[in-house]
Amino acid sequence: MDNNRYSSNRPRRKVSRRTYRNRRLAALAIISFLILVFVVFIAKACKSDDKKPAAEKKASSTLTTTTTATDAAITTTVTTTAAVTLPSNDSDFKLDKRTVILEVGETDMPRVLEYPDGTVEADERWESTDKKIATVDSYGHITGVSPGKCYVTLKSAADPKQEVMIQVTVRGEDTDDNDSAAPQSNKAEAPAPPVHDTEGLTYIDGVLLVNKEHSLPATFAPMLEQVCYDQFTALSTAASKEGLSIYIGSSYRSYKDQETIYNNYIEEEKKKGNTEEQAVEIVDTYSARAGYSEHQSGLCIDVNTINNAFGYTQESAWLSEHAHEYGFIIRYPLGKENITGYQYEPWHIRYVGSKIARKIYRSGQCLEEYLGVA
Ligand SMILES: [Zn+2]
Repeated sequence: MDNNRYSSNRPRRKVSRRTYRNRRLAALAIISFLILVFVVFIAKACKSDDKKPAAEKKASSTLTTTTTATDAAITTTVTTTAAVTLPSNDSDFKLDKRTVILEVGETDMPRVLEYPDGTVEADERWESTDKKIATVDSYGHITGVSPGKCYVTLKSAADPKQEVMIQVTVRGEDTDDNDSAAPQSNKAEAPAPPVHDTEGLTYIDGVLLVNKEHSLPATFAPMLEQVCYDQFTALSTAASKEGLSIYIGSSYRSYKDQETIYNNYIEEEKKKGNTEEQAVEIVDTYSARAGYSEHQSGLCIDVNTINNAFGYTQESAWLSEHAHEYGFIIRYPLGKENITGYQYEPWHIRYVGSKIARKIYRSGQCLEEYLGVA
């Protein structure tokens, strides 16, 4: 019996040892392969981190949100769940300016007036989103490289959540109305919008001004102006030729529409636990009261998704670069919040005709500055 068992077990033990060895080898091979894959992955990630500026990476991830949001709702209640972390412009960095306008070869530097808690000058990390347009050194000196627009971001190495954007416009050599210097620009002239003879409208130099100080009467209902629609169609067609999708998200809104929207926002804020007074204060920072919305003028359009993520898309970059060729301006630019009274809205374009749009684009001013009412 013993002998039998021995003889019957012996070959089996031999086999199992070999199998064990083979398994160990296989396990080792799998582990080394996994380590190799991991090392390659890390190396690649580091490499792309070095190359791609933060905003570019965000742009690629936000592009999907724009294309999926096909809701062409009339109200501004479109909310998208963009899984991206955007540089917050309400960081504790205080700068003396958030927009920089340069000629090619010229250098300027925004001064840091205040640092976030626990952060010092040595923690400053400056980065340009497009080094072909402007470069920035470790001190924040921004130098124009070629005409166009990009952003420079300032981050704190001590607290990476502290991030602020500076909009950079590099102007070409053509400072006057000679637009032949812009090679890819639209040459067709976009006419000035119609002037209405309605009491209560504020025109300055032929431009209808609607802002927190200048309202429109409840009776003023021009609908979306034909010229605005036609020029937007031309703009959208030109963008689509470059593979970009720019569509109307929201355009004309009547006095009554705006009243409803504003009141809905107030109710929403009150539901969050704010008092009536607090709700009004909050809603006033992002929504116009009835009569004070530029959308009632029939001269403006909110494109694509009404979301800060839009500012990081290629569509937004194209729009800020070409809108003026079709007679539009980015009405609420970055860094002009104190003048326009509105947060940066890269999606809101206002029709003024190409003559004025071009001047505003080149000057880097907002509409109020251009009209001398800032
Ligand atoms: Zn708008």
